[in-house]
Amino acid sequence: MTNPTSPVRVRYAPSPTGIPHIGNIRTALFCWVIAQQTNGQFIVRIEDTDRSRYDSDAEKAIFESLQWLGLDFDEGPGKGGLHGPYVQSQRQATYVKAAEKLVESGHAYYDDTTPEQLHALRERQKAAKQPPRYDGRGRHRSPEEIEESRQAGLPITIRLKVPDHGKIAFEDSVRGKITFELKELDDFVILKSDQMPTYHLAHVLDDASMGVTHVIRGDEWISSTPRHLLIHQALGITPPKYVHVPLILGNDKAKLSKRHGATSALEYRDMGFLPDAVFNFICLLGWSPGDDTEVMARKDIINRFSIDRINDSPATFDAEKLEWMNGVYIRNMNTDDLICALLPFMEKPESDGGLPDSVTRPIDRVYLKQLIPLVQERLKLLTEGTETLDFFFKENVDPSAEELPGKKMGAAMTIQALEAALALCKTSSPFEPEFLESEYRALAEKIQMKPGQLFSPIRVAITGKKFAPPLFDTMSALGQDRCITRMEKAILTLKLSIIA
Ligand code: GLU
Repeated sequence: MTNPTSPVRVRYAPSPTGIPHIGNIRTALFCWVIAQQTNGQFIVRIEDTDRSRYDSDAEKAIFESLQWLGLDFDEGPGKGGLHGPYVQSQRQATYVKAAEKLVESGHAYYDDTTPEQLHALRERQKAAKQPPRYDGRGRHRSPEEIEESRQAGLPITIRLKVPDHGKIAFEDSVRGKITFELKELDDFVILKSDQMPTYHLAHVLDDASMGVTHVIRGDEWISSTPRHLLIHQALGITPPKYVHVPLILGNDKAKLSKRHGATSALEYRDMGFLPDAVFNFICLLGWSPGDDTEVMARKDIINRFSIDRINDSPATFDAEKLEWMNGVYIRNMNTDDLICALLPFMEKPESDGGLPDSVTRPIDRVYLKQLIPLVQERLKLLTEGTETLDFFFKENVDPSAEELPGKKMGAAMTIQALEAALALCKTSSPFEPEFLESEYRALAEKIQMKPGQLFSPIRVAITGKKFAPPLFDTMSALGQDRCITRMEKAILTLKLSIIA
């Protein structure tokens, strides 16, 4: 199938039963992209008919994930639209009416089989090594018997009559023609005893009444599609086009799950990923533009996306690639945008990964702007801003006597290096990176040390870390006074360690 040329109407229809995972959000993202591309509409519909599993936090997380990724929708809860309400529990009457109409037209029937009877049936089938399936006994119940059961308070469902032979087929936009044997299906419930529809009935009715043209969803729904086609047939409506997107696997080729690490978009947000990078990355889970391009701006993805190029084999979630991609996006940001992205992480309480609580908030933005060029190249996550830059904001750093020496340096040699460095620091002017570098290189030669031997203790003394941004930029940004104080303190620490 080539890409739709006329405007599509596509929907993201999550069930608020858990925090939406990456695979789930990917369907939202594909829907959003194809809606933008064709100038169509992206609809959000909350499928909350399973009231026992309803979770309000999950519902909140759904909208937060959409908002964070910039997947704005045209119709949906809180947004309105001509086909609302967009929450299934508010559409119950429609489903009941449709199910009853299917009974009237002979396509469905009331069933008073109790859960205990269904359980006993399954046990018998299990013992006989038969696949568990409903045996259609309700087809033979008379209206009087059903009424009697109703009066007796037994649970009454409505089931669709499935022909016991023949085939049903559909053309999947990703996998091509898929055919099912009807004898494999049993008469399934469309209206539960609590008068709530099953997913099968509800989504078919909603998709039809909302004018959905393409159903984009995970391929775990393929096996249910024949049921959906039968409901369409019974209702006399034309099914939409089906686009079943492939499963997402972890690096070990097992289905992506919690044990692979973070699985929800919001976790990635909290870990310091940028929404644009995550958007780009998710888009490539099961789709590729047909060449090796990986880093693509949103507008390029919209231009290049095509259903044709959705893969029919599983996609692999490569967390390292996502981190790499985030680094690319960070490098490509302008300084002001990066500051805006970093600040919320740096200004969190210390216990949440922010700068020490002793650092006053709000953080000095002008100073931060001066520091960005020192670290932008190296950042992969926004959360790393705190750790990479903390020593610029802290009053003091406190490296231990063991941390200060460079490779193959004892305490005495380290003191010698730092004392020479301190003396030079007091007189160096201008305190600019290039000048400092030439001065300190000359100093190393003068005191007959390798540059690395001189620079390493200085780095630890002024930053408290073995790895830090380029030394002379760092010294310059810290300023002469703080460099002096920190080197003095480091020398003292070393001297005390010798005495002790
Ligand atoms: N409510 C279903 C889900 O959350 C929707 C499946 C579909 O898109 O048809 O998976």
